[in-house]
Amino acid sequence: MKSFYITTPIYYVNDIPHIGHAYTTIACDVMARYKRMKGFDTHFLTGTDEHGQKIQQAAEAKGMTPQELVDKIHVNFRELWKVLNISNDDFIRTTEDRHVRVVQAMFKKLIDQGDIYKGSYEGWYCVPCETYVPESSMGENRTCPDCGRPLTTMKEESYFFRASKYAPQLIEHYEKNLQGVMPRIRYNEIMSFLRGDVRDQSVSRTTLKWGIPIPSDEKHVVYVWFDALINYATAVGYLDDPEMFKRYWPNVRHMVGKDIIRFHCVIWPLMLLALGINVPVSVIAHGWWTVDGEKMSKSKGNVVDPFKMAELYGADAFRYFLLREVPFGNDGDFSELAMVGRVNSDLANDLGNLLNRTLQMIMNYSGGVVPAAKEKDALSEEVRKLSESTVTQLDGVMDTFSYDEALKLIWVFIARANKYIDETSPWKLDKEGQKDKLATVLLTLYEALRLSALLVAPFIPDSAIKIWKQLGLQGSPLTSLIDDFRWGDGAGSHVAKAEVLFPRIDVEEWKKARAASAPKESVAPATEHEPEIDIEGFKSVEMRVAQVIKVEEIPRSKNLYKLDVDLGYEKRVICSGIKRFFKPEELEGRRIVMVTNLKPAKLCGIESNGMILAASVHEEGNEKVSLIVPASDIPLGSRVK
Ligand SMILES: [Zn+2]
Repeated sequence: MKSFYITTPIYYVNDIPHIGHAYTTIACDVMARYKRMKGFDTHFLTGTDEHGQKIQQAAEAKGMTPQELVDKIHVNFRELWKVLNISNDDFIRTTEDRHVRVVQAMFKKLIDQGDIYKGSYEGWYCVPCETYVPESSMGENRTCPDCGRPLTTMKEESYFFRASKYAPQLIEHYEKNLQGVMPRIRYNEIMSFLRGDVRDQSVSRTTLKWGIPIPSDEKHVVYVWFDALINYATAVGYLDDPEMFKRYWPNVRHMVGKDIIRFHCVIWPLMLLALGINVPVSVIAHGWWTVDGEKMSKSKGNVVDPFKMAELYGADAFRYFLLREVPFGNDGDFSELAMVGRVNSDLANDLGNLLNRTLQMIMNYSGGVVPAAKEKDALSEEVRKLSESTVTQLDGVMDTFSYDEALKLIWVFIARANKYIDETSPWKLDKEGQKDKLATVLLTLYEALRLSALLVAPFIPDSAIKIWKQLGLQGSPLTSLIDDFRWGDGAGSHVAKAEVLFPRIDVEEWKKARAASAPKESVAPATEHEPEIDIEGFKSVEMRVAQVIKVEEIPRSKNLYKLDVDLGYEKRVICSGIKRFFKPEELEGRRIVMVTNLKPAKLCGIESNGMILAASVHEEGNEKVSLIVPASDIPLGSRVK
């Protein structure tokens, strides 16, 4: 049996799962399900990337060990995959022992054969964030993109992977294997990069603490990308199960977002060549999602929550929309309204109606039993032939990961079956007593639905099961083989009562509900006015721009944070009652406005030297707080007037 091994990237465990994670994973899931139904020995892997400085910092801020933190939060991904009906065979975490051992073994092998050597790494570094910042993501005037502070150059001892040595071999491979990187636009991008200057890659850090140690040199840990990429080999038994590795590795395919193709199409294959292992058959890169035409961002509040989408519309509707809407590889725009449109037209109307009408006719004209056909006619033959060509063509488009084309093909077939009802008017045949003709029509429609259930199963598995049951079939479409389908085998089946597969969503009602649940701009009632002051009174309050450097919890206090702030000309400590409204990481690095001439006060035993400004309002019993921040970059210490 031919094997098929597909992987998602391992997701950075500290991320909140969003539409991008869901998209990649659903795309892999559909492919894995399709290949299983085509008889492939399939293995489907996903997981989480759990090392790195940011995890360590997040853990410190929460008073946990990094391991405790990742143990807790990796579950976010596991739960999402359950909700979205993802059929992964394995879930790997880079902190697992099976992975740590493989990374260390590969590192050692590469040192031993001279493909990893010691040198020194120099780069732009943010000391407070303890992280290197590549030129491409620096802020203005070489500042840290996370905290805005100036970067310094840093030099440390580092191990290097001799990537340059294997680049010519990889170019040769890709020249012969055009499907090595998909789609073509990414292939060209990778080839021009490879033909340029491929440099040896730094693969260890002494500044990083939360990572896999290098056994022969304990002050180094393996750099996160080197560690992360290896997961794909770990999971199929590179070290522990050579049989499994031999079974799956020759047919490995990675699905990734277009932002991480260099790691997957250059660095990783070069590592594999050095290790003497075959490079991936394909790396498939998909595009990015915008939301209602805008870039997704936390501050805009337009991040699409896949949990919520599945809850509101069902996992199948969400899965269908993501893959149908955009040619795979292109960027796409997510719009809930567009999704509602697709649910109504494609799922409720086309597929749902075909099922409903067919079952009802079999009930009414044939006592719920699918008749055998005694005669063939041109129209029913046309439907049957289209079913065959659909199955064949589907294979072609799935091979190129063209999910939208696949769904279009299936829906052309579904539309043809719907049209066949209108062309043959079974209700007339029943009235006229044309029993043989009617039998042909009912069987043709039933078979069209039976095949449709198989074809849509990889995309909308829950709905496929529902169709299967209503058709009165045994087993499950998910474990059936598409190629075992024989037209006519369904005769004699007893159908169940028709149930609505996808309820139509009333768009006007939907819009009203949407408007009602949208956050309102509420105006705080100005009930408590302070007495009037003159300009001198106002001027006596000295306010300046400052930056929050560090946020610490005050153990005895529910409300207070101890903040270290920088005014540029001096540093201060402030106690601020905003703990309930912000996480430390939401404050650290931010520029704020503070009152600098407030008399010092002792709060919970700590002297507070100033006050930071925030707006607050009570809404339905809840207090909402927003920091007052300068709208553009202005030096620390600037006076606020
Ligand atoms: Zn920084």
